[in-house]
Amino acid sequence: MASALVRVGLRENNTPVAVRGQGVYVFDNTGKRYLDGSGGALIVTIGHGVAEIGEAVAAQMKKLSYVFRAHFSNEPAEELAQMLVSEMPVGFSRVLFTSSGSEAVEAAIKAARQYHHERGDHGRHKIISRLDSYHGVTLGAMSATGMHAMKDAGSWRPLQIPVRHINTVRCDDCPFHLKYPSCQTFCATELERAIIEEGPGSVAAFIAEPSRGEEPPPDYWPTIREICDRYGVLLIADEVACGLWRTGRAYCVDHWNIVPDLLTFGKATASGYAPLAGLAMSDKVLDALVNGSGVFLHGHTHSANPMSCAAGLAVQRHVRANGLDRGVAGRGEILDQALRRVVAKHEICVATSGLGLLRQLALRPPRGTNLTIASLVLEALSMRFGLISQYWKAGDRVGFQLAPPYIISDSQILELEERLDRIIPAFAGW
Ligand code: PMP
Repeated sequence: MASALVRVGLRENNTPVAVRGQGVYVFDNTGKRYLDGSGGALIVTIGHGVAEIGEAVAAQMKKLSYVFRAHFSNEPAEELAQMLVSEMPVGFSRVLFTSSGSEAVEAAIKAARQYHHERGDHGRHKIISRLDSYHGVTLGAMSATGMHAMKDAGSWRPLQIPVRHINTVRCDDCPFHLKYPSCQTFCATELERAIIEEGPGSVAAFIAEPSRGEEPPPDYWPTIREICDRYGVLLIADEVACGLWRTGRAYCVDHWNIVPDLLTFGKATASGYAPLAGLAMSDKVLDALVNGSGVFLHGHTHSANPMSCAAGLAVQRHVRANGLDRGVAGRGEILDQALRRVVAKHEICVATSGLGLLRQLALRPPRGTNLTIASLVLEALSMRFGLISQYWKAGDRVGFQLAPPYIISDSQILELEERLDRIIPAFAGW
């Protein structure tokens, strides 16, 4: 029967139908087993099919399924918020729950603009972000996104907010053809040039992911923080994908001990058991809003939905009770070794990088290859060989983005390596 669902590629209708998930595996309706090498869209942390999460959500459903945020707070939301802020950098004491990362990014951009406005600084409306970045699909979040091909795809321009993009960190493929440390983190100082060119009084915030599978040089983030402070620009760390232990630290910014002004989180919060994301505001931003107009209008119908928060709370308890949080760094090392072996075995593979269980594997197809088509081919081949992964392209490279569940075992990492060993030659021969 033809599917009645809208797909990404509107004409295609052959996406497999998933029926069951267990641990690091997903099964489709033909019985085929897929290894979840990317936790779907970098979401799954505790694995599929953990019964206690279903039980916690069912109990919450029987007790209280929904209240609107403007009328009530609710118990799972309160408890989850406490748990999350207890691990956040100093100066973060409140979160706003949303249903998606895009909403969280929208909230961050709005909060940044409102912060300046409340302090009487009315000209700061621009955002600076990085090329090749991803921040979501709503119009504001998509404006911040640095993937131009994606923004051009649907004739959506002009987008909502003025955004300027600077280069991202890619030390193993530096867009400036420089080498660290003699480059003196040129890619970070590019932010200062952008702020000056835009007019410092017009820039509200710089938004970026602390890591999406690349390893910034040690002074990259401290330099960014310093530049933001110098020009009164807020720093938004978009940790929708890299937050909540994905990179081996509670929040990715902890790797460099920097404290952003706003921090978005998302995917790992409920490990896919419910739609849940959010924005954490530093006291600095919150105080300006509270002492100003005292309102922040970003109240979606499902903000702090009790069902989603019950799922998130059960997931976060499970993560800590089973030591999955502290285990990510070690799992990440084993994955890194496997990916290094893959790079050594296949000529087309040129690099691997990452932190914890958020890693990239880069391939350089022959010159002249259309990279959009190449990444679609990579995706199709992976699914054929039973590997769920995410795909990216930048410069002259395409690649896998790997972010398996935190529970992945040594033998399952070997299985992932074996699948890559089959997919990559098929891709090279395409
Ligand atoms: N920011 C980042 C860094 C993301 O990775 C994503 C999702 N890929 C988003 C924002 C948007 O999140 P969502 O898809 O939940 O709207």
